[in-house]
Amino acid sequence: MEQSEQRLFRLLEKGTSAVMVVQEAVSQLEEAGFEELRFDRQWGLTEHGKYYVKHHDTTLFAFTIGGHVGFQDAVRIGAAHTDFPCLRIKPNPDVSTEGYRQLNVEIYGAPILNTWLDRPLSISGRVAVQGTDVMHPKMHYLSVERPLLVIPNLAIHMNREVNKGVELNKQTDMLPILGLVGEEGKEDKVLLDFLSKELQVEKEDILDFELWIYCLEKPQYVGMQEELIFSPRLDNLTSVHALLEGLIHSSRGMGLNVIALFDHEEIGSRTKQGAGSVLLLNLLEKIYRSLGKTDTQRMESLYDAFFLSVDVAHGLHPNQMGKMDITNKPVLGGGICIKEACSQSYATDCEAVAVVEQICRKGKIPYQKFVNRSDMAGGGTLGAIASGLVPVRTADIGVPILAMHSAVETMGRADRKALTDLLTAFFQA
Ligand SMILES: [Zn+2]
Repeated sequence: MEQSEQRLFRLLEKGTSAVMVVQEAVSQLEEAGFEELRFDRQWGLTEHGKYYVKHHDTTLFAFTIGGHVGFQDAVRIGAAHTDFPCLRIKPNPDVSTEGYRQLNVEIYGAPILNTWLDRPLSISGRVAVQGTDVMHPKMHYLSVERPLLVIPNLAIHMNREVNKGVELNKQTDMLPILGLVGEEGKEDKVLLDFLSKELQVEKEDILDFELWIYCLEKPQYVGMQEELIFSPRLDNLTSVHALLEGLIHSSRGMGLNVIALFDHEEIGSRTKQGAGSVLLLNLLEKIYRSLGKTDTQRMESLYDAFFLSVDVAHGLHPNQMGKMDITNKPVLGGGICIKEACSQSYATDCEAVAVVEQICRKGKIPYQKFVNRSDMAGGGTLGAIASGLVPVRTADIGVPILAMHSAVETMGRADRKALTDLLTAFFQA
């Protein structure tokens, strides 16, 4: 397996929640010599420096500075999201049902619920523990890399109509089983017990948690020629991966290359660490100030910037051809998708598309175009939201996948390379 593909597989395995995606991205950036900054400190940036800064543990920016920032065509920005649809554990989650231990959960984003049934599941996220400073509790992070939970289907004998489709109730049908009530009796704080052992902290000191249930299946190849990749979280870790590869493995003599990995895209982006926050603007302001540039110089160079919003697209499903547009039918393996929508749910405009096409043509990178059928609303992504705040030329692109928002999705292996090549060329061109 090529090294870059290995790094994608590592990100898919390690990135089990937005917190863990950020941690794995940070480890790849640190290996490449990037230095950590903090929003609440002064920055002393230098030309040719490489930096990263986290926000709320789940959003991450990284950037490289060339010489002469402030000239025309200075700023290239690529953005993707760190979150994905899944289940989240509620406070006081323990439920004991006739000998089964279960957890109370809520649904994050819009997963295809039935794909979460009959799979090994586990827990990932962060836990706040009492410390001495009331304004700064101690944060602990965990990703339990062994199967802990399962949500079983109902046997067909108890619902003969199952193959006609089943509506799953988000409160009552999705509670995972955590095990069986054993000899020890009905201890009611099983999850807290587990966390206290796993994190080696006192149970009474655990104040709160953001814990996510994730699909434990590993990424793997599928197909006679292993031409497909089958994995949880392809939406949107394929894009996070390509942005990291592009930023780390390219350099420009001048200007600023930025990647923005935002949380909360799956719930609309309009949060303090989402693409709809002022974070990206704050970051750019702070970078320009630290480089001794005036506000006017910053504005001038920003208005000539280019923003690539990177998120997965829908590939043509061979069993559901009628769901696709009638003349634009991107397929897996056919190259990256440029996504367009006159509603601006994709932020792409004609000039920005032309820029992406020129980069692709120059680098012999295959590309296709995606638009929704006119009678389907389709999805949106962070491009339109972020570029409302940073009003620069913007294109929405990404690899085509099948089964978007399933617990396990499928993509073309060649498209991974196409996207990585495009991002590398984007940050270098
Ligand atoms: Zn996405």
